[in-house]
Amino acid sequence: MDKVLRIDMGADGGPKVTETPLGDYAGLGGRAMTSAIVSKEVPPLCHPLGADNKLVIAPGMLSGSAAAMSGRISVGGKSPLTGGIKEANSGGQPSQVLARLGYAAIVLEGQPKDDTLYKIFINKDGVKITPDNSLKGLGNYAVVEKMKGAYGDKIACISIGPAGEMKLAASTVAFTDMELRPTRHAGRGGLGAVMGSKGVKVIVLDDTGKPMRAPKDLEKFKAANKQWVDGLKSNPVTGQGLPAYGTNVLTNILNEAGAYPTYNFKEGRFAGATKISGETQAELETSRGGLATHGCHRGCVIRCSGTYHDKDGHFLTKQPEYETVWAHGGNCGIDDLDSIARMDLLDDDIGLDTIEMGATIGVAMEGGLLKFGDAQGAINLIKEAGKGTPLGRILGSGAAVTGKVFGVERIPVVKGQAMPAYDPRAVQGIGVTYATSTQGADHTAGYAVATNIMKVGGFVDPLKPAGQIELSRNLQITTAAIDSMGTCLFVAFAIMDQPETFQALLDLTNAFFGFNLKAEDVTELGKKILKMERDFNAAAGFTKAHDRLPEFFKNQALPPHNVTFGVTDEELDQVFNW
Ligand code: SF4
Repeated sequence: MDKVLRIDMGADGGPKVTETPLGDYAGLGGRAMTSAIVSKEVPPLCHPLGADNKLVIAPGMLSGSAAAMSGRISVGGKSPLTGGIKEANSGGQPSQVLARLGYAAIVLEGQPKDDTLYKIFINKDGVKITPDNSLKGLGNYAVVEKMKGAYGDKIACISIGPAGEMKLAASTVAFTDMELRPTRHAGRGGLGAVMGSKGVKVIVLDDTGKPMRAPKDLEKFKAANKQWVDGLKSNPVTGQGLPAYGTNVLTNILNEAGAYPTYNFKEGRFAGATKISGETQAELETSRGGLATHGCHRGCVIRCSGTYHDKDGHFLTKQPEYETVWAHGGNCGIDDLDSIARMDLLDDDIGLDTIEMGATIGVAMEGGLLKFGDAQGAINLIKEAGKGTPLGRILGSGAAVTGKVFGVERIPVVKGQAMPAYDPRAVQGIGVTYATSTQGADHTAGYAVATNIMKVGGFVDPLKPAGQIELSRNLQITTAAIDSMGTCLFVAFAIMDQPETFQALLDLTNAFFGFNLKAEDVTELGKKILKMERDFNAAAGFTKAHDRLPEFFKNQALPPHNVTFGVTDEELDQVFNW
């Protein structure tokens, strides 16, 4: 990973490839890399779909090595959804493959002169860019099948569906999993639209002939990796709960806590929760021949993923994540797993963010477009987005746009991005993260649910404002650093409670690079990333007024606890005052 691959899609005579040394970006990976490039090279006031924006794709620091859990990849740019800096990360195979090909980042820049669509093929011999308009309008699954036909099945793909081509603000960048299915997505913030604006449909990676990245100190690396894996396996969340039931293990937990946003954030409990819980889902998957425990990339030892089969036992989609099941389920009053799985498949294929689309449909239901609980109606709405009808384009632009169009007051967004599956009135720590994150409402930016609800890393009462600022601040800092290492965020459950497992991650990184990182260096890295992102957003026009939750969270009490969001504006302004 000693070079950056730059592709100018607007160059005279067609796309132009250059490889540049790392320079100022040496030692960075994942989110640190994407945010550094975006904050240095993208004018904050540029249009997200214009020539000056860049799409940056960067493997994590440890990707491509034998380190467990190191397959996360970051995508960055100026977000068409929020108007601020964006980093969305994903699992899947491309991170490992791109890292082994030697690239610390791919940067798509410039603006094509016409609407030609391109595919990019990268292997050990170099980079080949080919116009291919036969890919126009194809879903992610069909694109990957075509690439398999052209390049064989030893590849990994990064692609967009029709939503990205249409430049919809809820569009994703898809990454293939171990079975070469486009099931993993950098979902948030509409980065698929940025890839679409560059005229790139798919990037095909083939690392045949390239070895695994080698650590500086092999023996220390092996020892640290063993301790790292042992720590993850011995933790009850990463060793038992997530592997057995996937992220959807959270449905019953959040519902019990009265923090499960239901009927577009009107209530905190959903009567149909048991029918769509992780426990029910795992049983159903296993009974149909699917898998309840599965890794999204090689080297994952938690394996929170799974495969969901239809009633006839055929693969339908990957195991829908908790946030997807919530977004298309309880939030819309839908309690049918098969319908939710179908929506997950449609989102993946069209290239839409499941969280944004579920929240959007919830808002549309509140606006009277269809009734809560209408599963077929919700499926039809996603298809509208895929077809690009005027209604579909409104929905594919996200919850904020849709709420305006349908005259809805209760629109659960921050900085234009929809909130995920945790009500900030009943999990006030996550409310602080939603309000203040550089990314818009994003649970992964500082997952206070772990401490508020699961008592990981201590306990802070979820219903009260006390202690939430410090909790969110510390988590946002740590998360920014983890997002840079390329380890899946779920490792946080183990490292927050097991100091020796955190130390193992440091030892792993140090043995790989020959560094001497200490815990405080990780904190400094996290702070540095957040500062870059905050500075970009400020230059793009964001003020403290953007670090707020929508008004209704303060004046509409959430049953069953009948609580409102109690953290004051003055307190929110202290999150980044470290
Ligand atoms: S824990 Fe889950 S999301 Fe994380 S790498 Fe493994 S399968 Fe992917």
